[in-house]
Amino acid sequence: AGARARYVDRCPKSYQAFQEALSVMPGGNTRTVLFHEPYPFRAATGEGSWLIDADGNRLLNLLGEYTAGLFGHDHPEIQLAIRTALQGGINLGAHHSIESKFAQLLVSRFPALEKVRFTNSGTEATLMALTAARAHTGRDKILVFEGGYHGGVFLFKPDISTNAPFSWEVCPFNDVKAAVTAIRSLGPELAAVMVEPMLGSGGCVPARPDFLAALRRESDAAGCLLIFDEVMTSRLGEEGGQGLYGIFPDLMTVGKWIGGGMSFGAFGGRAEVMDLFDPRRPDAIAHAGTFNNNVLTMHAGVAALGRIYTAKHAFRFNAWGDKIRERLNQTAIDLEIPFQISGLGSLMCLHPGAGPIENYRDVMRRDDRLRELVFLDLLEEGYYIARRGFIALSLTLTQQEIDRFVDAFRRVLERRSDLL
Ligand code: PLP
Repeated sequence: AGARARYVDRCPKSYQAFQEALSVMPGGNTRTVLFHEPYPFRAATGEGSWLIDADGNRLLNLLGEYTAGLFGHDHPEIQLAIRTALQGGINLGAHHSIESKFAQLLVSRFPALEKVRFTNSGTEATLMALTAARAHTGRDKILVFEGGYHGGVFLFKPDISTNAPFSWEVCPFNDVKAAVTAIRSLGPELAAVMVEPMLGSGGCVPARPDFLAALRRESDAAGCLLIFDEVMTSRLGEEGGQGLYGIFPDLMTVGKWIGGGMSFGAFGGRAEVMDLFDPRRPDAIAHAGTFNNNVLTMHAGVAALGRIYTAKHAFRFNAWGDKIRERLNQTAIDLEIPFQISGLGSLMCLHPGAGPIENYRDVMRRDDRLRELVFLDLLEEGYYIARRGFIALSLTLTQQEIDRFVDAFRRVLERRSDLL
């Protein structure tokens, strides 16, 4: 209650803006994940790694637009790329050369990608990858894992009306035995196994190498396709999650940062599967989308992937992230407070409590009210993370900013030591 009262006090203009939004948007909201009690602050502008809210508070942005904001708020090369795109004309409604350049960059970065197609979001990319797998195999069922997030229409729950009506089978994440049993028993009905190499939104839980290896082996044996959703993990290491594990899927999806912060998604993989979309085929699968090859995203993506976040850069940046995560964990150990930070490289998640975090059930066992308290305390300290503890580092963050964040994190743990 104290943290909330101070929050209300600190953000009166955000509160007013929230009240105004309530009359025209349900809950004053257009992205559920951004809502938090007592009301979400309103961002006015972004500069580098900083957000300035409607009340003039400066917040260090550690949420990084859920991984899409890798480049910070005003990266000069991204801005230049977008200006260049604008000068060449908006909405060409035709193929243009920059899109194939972007496709080449993607194909040369990720070993699993032989051919690729663009979408507007990670959600659509997943939808199309699943469609490709179903068409290629002539089968219907899709195996996914608890805590996997593949977009807002994939909730795997029969009673939720926004759930895409695929024939889902759900297994616990990182449970080799359960996955092997499921794949073997579904066998000839299974079109695809879809997995994130690290649960992202599900709490930054890295896959066990033997889990991914089992999915690869069993998918081959069952004749279904293995899909890696790398919308988040593509930023980890030189070749994304697949490179870190040395395990390569038949199809993969990407999104978020690869579009340089513009709306983006792409799916691709083995040429023989992707060629199902070749319009020269009489039986081609149609794949539409007015903005699939929009010039703003294509130009920003070429700058993002080709010039800024190169494979070498990705390696260094994620090694830095590993160090930051270790420091945060060490802070909790030094204070003897049961609190953990899970993740890989530049992506991490805060979890109050003790015990291993190997799957989504372990994440859900932790107290979400304490997660939210830490979130509000960090907001008060001037740090913006996801309400559920998720952090995605951006390239504009400096060591000094991170040092200050680690200090703030220590203060929050100390302040809440009686509750944590
Ligand atoms: N897949 C993963 C792993 C994601 O994390 C997300 C978004 O958070 C998506 C897919 C959906 O992407 P988008 O929000 O661009 O539709």
